[in-house]
Amino acid sequence: MSQLNMKIRKIAIVGGGTAGWLAANHLGLESTKRRGLEITVIESKDIPIIGVGEGTVSIIRKSLENFGINEAELLLRCDTTFKTGIKFIDWMAPKKNRKNNFFYHPFDTPYPSGLDSTNYWLWNKSCEFSALTKSYFVAEKNQCPKLRESSPYDGAVNYAYHFDAKKFADLLSDNAKRRFGIIHKIKTIISANLGENGFIKSLNYGDGEVEEFDFFIDCSGFNALLIDKVFDVPFINKGDQILADQALALQVKTESSDEIFPYTKATAHQAGWIWDIPLTTRRGTGFVYSSAHMSEQEAVAEFARYHGAGFREENVRKIPMKAGYREKFWVKNCVALGLAQGFIEPLEATSIVITDRCAELISHLLPEYLKDIDLRAKQINLRVQTIWERVIDFVQLHYLISDRRDSTFWHDCTENAKVSGVLSERLLMWKSFAPDHYDFSAEVEFFHRESFLCVLYGMDYPTLSLENTEEYMVFLKSKIDTHFKDAEALVGKLISHRQWLNEFYAYAANKQ
Ligand SMILES: Cc1cc2nc3c(=O)[nH]c(=O)nc-3n(C[C@H](O)[C@H](O)[C@H](O)COP(=O)(O)OP(=O)(O)OC[C@H]3O[C@@H](n4cnc5c(N)ncnc54)[C@H](O)[C@@H]3O)c2cc1C
Repeated sequence: MSQLNMKIRKIAIVGGGTAGWLAANHLGLESTKRRGLEITVIESKDIPIIGVGEGTVSIIRKSLENFGINEAELLLRCDTTFKTGIKFIDWMAPKKNRKNNFFYHPFDTPYPSGLDSTNYWLWNKSCEFSALTKSYFVAEKNQCPKLRESSPYDGAVNYAYHFDAKKFADLLSDNAKRRFGIIHKIKTIISANLGENGFIKSLNYGDGEVEEFDFFIDCSGFNALLIDKVFDVPFINKGDQILADQALALQVKTESSDEIFPYTKATAHQAGWIWDIPLTTRRGTGFVYSSAHMSEQEAVAEFARYHGAGFREENVRKIPMKAGYREKFWVKNCVALGLAQGFIEPLEATSIVITDRCAELISHLLPEYLKDIDLRAKQINLRVQTIWERVIDFVQLHYLISDRRDSTFWHDCTENAKVSGVLSERLLMWKSFAPDHYDFSAEVEFFHRESFLCVLYGMDYPTLSLENTEEYMVFLKSKIDTHFKDAEALVGKLISHRQWLNEFYAYAANKQ
């Protein structure tokens, strides 16, 4: 029978990093509904996973719950902490009347008492914009977003996780094998053989074995083994919009008595920013910078200043980053996910979420027969391209609207930056009106109105306030006053992030 008339049964996932195992769980879940799928994850023992990628966004909870992973297991196995959002520090120039040079992008919505009060806020700006969310208060007090009695995957405010990337991949792997019967092979793939119409037919392993599959998911990281080396799909370089192209990463041990902040810290510096992610036993930190604006030597020196005593350059990992994505993520019987699909610097922790969404998408849309792939692929490729473009817009926004001008980097990010037509138009429009739900398309945009509001107004973007009636303004003010009271009451009920985790560990130990 022609290869194209065959049913898709045997699926190879090339790569056992976060992307590979996320894909394995999504496809595994699908295999509980679809008859006959056989899924194999192949990874090389000689090519380690990248091992960074410790910050997530809140929709990861939905996937983990769908996979059947117990939240307690995630907490116990991956040094996991809770993340209520990102605290951006020094992204604006210091100013006399700028009391705090920080703002939050929380997962919580900035609608006090459930009501959109943006226009009232624009009119009097009496508090920091992110203080319109409850998360702001939880974060400022280093509290846990969950109550003692919160159910798994549920919190008093919205949250995601920080975790150890390697341990997380292991957790996903164990779950995929145990729950969905995913096959796991440790083999190095040397090359692939093409069959009819240029579809991939089989993989050549380093030990001489050749194995046939019907469909291939390329999760081979920056190696991009199939999407690049077999199909030669062009990489759309976004280095002219996202200037940071290098990262220095360093893990720092912490004490069990240290407070744990429930957010990622993103502190801007003269040529990029520093991430600081607290786990239960250590912090993951990273110095992201543009090599066109700062030498490696200067970057290391700056990073050393951030860490102070105890900093050792030999413990620092140096990771080059290329901003951009593959022109197509689905070609014939191959789909690329994770770093093989694309990457932009980790400012908004966008990589795992894009992978998660695309893995879910491909699991749902995988056709029954190979011959039906082309139309599906064409349609989905367009969508995924839009996902990337809008994510790039959102990450770039943080640099673009800054008023920092203390280095050529900040001049290049602001006055000299290349900006997409969509973002330029939106920014122009948002001078006269605050972002509206109708400005966004839920299907292809991960960052919606709430996220844009927090970044725009955290960074003093000048939008005119509309003239509301006096009665409506009074009403909005009463809602904001209620919000502050509710936030205070909530903070009174929550306990510190460290205490919550310690109590949880003690409870888990007692149960064993
Ligand atoms: C500096 C930095 C910071 C980041 N921070 C974040 C963050 O905070 N949040 C976030 O969401 N994302 C972040 N990311 C991205 C995140 O690390 C990745 O999305 C995630 O780790 C997934 O990687 P991956 O599985 O695609 O690739 P990898 O982890 O590199 O895995 C590749 C796999 O492919 C296998 N492989 C490769 N070649 C072969 C071969 N020839 N034969 C067999 N197997 C092969 C390897 O053995 C490995 O198992 C960050 C990335 C970087 C660079």
